[in-house]
Amino acid sequence: MKFKFFIFLSLCLCVSAVTVSAQKPASRPDPEIAKMVREVSAKNIEATIRKLVSFGTRNTLSEQDNPTRGIGAARDWIFSEFQKISSDCGGCLAVEKQTFLQPKANRVPEPTNLTNVIATLRGTTDPDRVYVVSGHYDSMCSSPTDAKCDAPGANDDASGTAAVIEIARVMSKRKFDATIVFMTVPGEEQGLLGATYFAQQAVEKKMNIDAMFTNDIIGGVTSQKNSQFRNRVRVFSEGVPSNETQPEANTRRSVGGENDSASRQLARFIKEQSARYLKNFQTWMIYRRDRYGRGGDHIPFLERGFPSVRFTESDEDYTHQHQNVRTENGVFYGDTPEYVDFEYVANVARVNLIALASLANAPARPKNVVVVNRLNNDTILKWDANADADIAGYEIVWRDTTAPEWTGSQLVGNVTTFTMKAMSKDNFFFGVRAVDKSGNKSPAVYPRPGR
Ligand SMILES: [Zn+2]
Repeated sequence: MKFKFFIFLSLCLCVSAVTVSAQKPASRPDPEIAKMVREVSAKNIEATIRKLVSFGTRNTLSEQDNPTRGIGAARDWIFSEFQKISSDCGGCLAVEKQTFLQPKANRVPEPTNLTNVIATLRGTTDPDRVYVVSGHYDSMCSSPTDAKCDAPGANDDASGTAAVIEIARVMSKRKFDATIVFMTVPGEEQGLLGATYFAQQAVEKKMNIDAMFTNDIIGGVTSQKNSQFRNRVRVFSEGVPSNETQPEANTRRSVGGENDSASRQLARFIKEQSARYLKNFQTWMIYRRDRYGRGGDHIPFLERGFPSVRFTESDEDYTHQHQNVRTENGVFYGDTPEYVDFEYVANVARVNLIALASLANAPARPKNVVVVNRLNNDTILKWDANADADIAGYEIVWRDTTAPEWTGSQLVGNVTTFTMKAMSKDNFFFGVRAVDKSGNKSPAVYPRPGR
């Protein structure tokens, strides 16, 4: 009797284990990502920030051929750092200087050479799918065209540059399905010039940039240490695509989707993945393209149709941004390293790393996802089969129309259509994501109406 009961019990356990693993393949954190998270070093980040500050100014218009001062010294130092990282991984990174002549512009009085410094970690099985993580290495003091004044730019944006270099160091020791581009650019303060050049080149080369992150002002200024928002980083994402055409806008007005751009799905993905690994540091989704009336290096990517987000500390301190270094009426102004919280920068770097690794390990986002536009109270979804060799299937996600994040999910197997019974497309928003055999999931794709 006892024996029979045991067999019965173990059968039950067996069946339920199969059911559980089929329902939630990605609930267990990836131990390799957890290991990389631990390898991110605040000390390395501090050393990079102090080194970048030591060049006196990194104004885009400053000296290009002085080995110790100006943007040229910073450019060459970043290049040599990427090269060192690459030699430590057997030459795994393609390190390059992408130089172009910027014609006269609003904040560029004379034609000037600008150089993006880039390190590429080529993907193994899907190298044409590319993720770009960026920070700008130029700086400014009070005037953007003053090339002589000291412009330490410790927070804006040595912090973002240091994060990019640090995650390149950690991630270059691993392999990923898709390609990751570690990018540092000048000309941000001159009008997003380095990023614009890269994004335009990407269009011309027909690069498939599946996501772009800009890290700008991620230093977690120490003057805001008592803020209630201290343990989080803001992730800005636009709701309506910057490059939306008039017919696309008409469709959106007719079926909804103001809150469902590819960039917003990317922000949801970053939040969901980050929460699996970081318990004491959160991502704070901000439903805006950027801070109020302001801009950053993700915008030229958005304008060309590449899903992109901006990372920025939760509370800024404007006495330590874009200021000549000085004391006035007892107040210290200037973007110096004393005001950077290196542990905070390391946490933001970790969020970037988790999201990038999760994206580059996951299958591509499903293509041509549609909701069948027919009068019924079920919702019929269709999509194209993914080309990924390790595809396991697809997952439907949904949420109430007023909910900010996906609240429901269902694995539906390796199919290209599925009907959500008794769930009307009028009453819920749906998305589809691809899942591989290891349980890695792509960001969700919001369907357009179709047949
Ligand atoms: Zn900046």
